[in-house]
Amino acid sequence: MNNNGEQTIHDVRYVRAWQADTKRKGRRGLRPAMLGWAALALLASPFAGGAPAAAADSASSMPPVICLDPGHQLKGNNALEPTGPNSRAMKPKVSSGTQGTATGKAEYVLTLEVSKRIQTELEAMGYTVVMTRETHDVDISNKERAEVANNTGADLFLRIHADGDASSKTQGASVLYPAKAVSVSPEQYGQSEAAARLVLDELVAATGAKSRGTVPRSDLSGFNWSTVPNVLVEMGFMTNAEEDRLLSTDEYQSKMAKGIAEGVNRYITEVAGKSPWLPQPYVGWLDLTDNAYLFDRTDGRLVPIGAYLGPQTVTVREKADDWYRIDTWLGSNWIQLPQGQTLLAAS
Ligand SMILES: [Zn+2]
Repeated sequence: MNNNGEQTIHDVRYVRAWQADTKRKGRRGLRPAMLGWAALALLASPFAGGAPAAAADSASSMPPVICLDPGHQLKGNNALEPTGPNSRAMKPKVSSGTQGTATGKAEYVLTLEVSKRIQTELEAMGYTVVMTRETHDVDISNKERAEVANNTGADLFLRIHADGDASSKTQGASVLYPAKAVSVSPEQYGQSEAAARLVLDELVAATGAKSRGTVPRSDLSGFNWSTVPNVLVEMGFMTNAEEDRLLSTDEYQSKMAKGIAEGVNRYITEVAGKSPWLPQPYVGWLDLTDNAYLFDRTDGRLVPIGAYLGPQTVTVREKADDWYRIDTWLGSNWIQLPQGQTLLAAS
């Protein structure tokens, strides 16, 4: 154990920790001495004054989270809220949305139908999805929806809507994103723009919908209050009878959901540089030569528990990207493979 020198954590206590699995089944190269009592360092206040450096580094490689917002709700709320943090302009908290001219369906019903399909697609791909609503009878303003995504630390805020127009001939899909002027940073702007392009490309490829392009907007509260990359999909026009009927068919909804999910997947993997979270069973051992911070996986998120393992050999049960679920004295925890560690796969 080396818990001084480089050690920057205060008030380190050692407690008697877990006993490693001694049934090594003849693994060569693992000395029994390494398998005895391991020292565990408990961090007195792991989150006070910022997470420990090693745990904070891990935050950037956390599994991706998508915040999915089915537009509108059963009853619009015309009470006013500022259109953005730097705006004096006011807009209704959430409008009632459009309606299908052929189906008579309300936009809020369609958006939740398709959002639930997108959620299923994304979760199957290995994404954690946080929904702003799962029922119709809610009262969540556009500002509050953006705050759900912000507080979640979402990698993408994905808003699902349908369009309406005075002309019954207007049709097609578009994807809106926050204009540069209302973005919190050039990064957020660039990421939103890239996500809009990829989601539209894949939506159009999957459905054959007419593309109306990607459109930067500075007048939408749900964009202006957002601090994470975000896009708003206008799936099609409910005021066009033909497109309205199409938007409600099982086949077309399935195509839309798959296309939108694929666009999200391309954004996350190609632009955000993250991988979906798909743990696979794994049989092997890790020789830890440095401290490894322990995480629990809660509600699809990796949460540091404020403790780490010192150098020792640990048994691996599952692997996802460079994360490993290992046996610990608590039962089981995730660690991110520290640089330069040796992974010993079972033969
Ligand atoms: Zn809408």
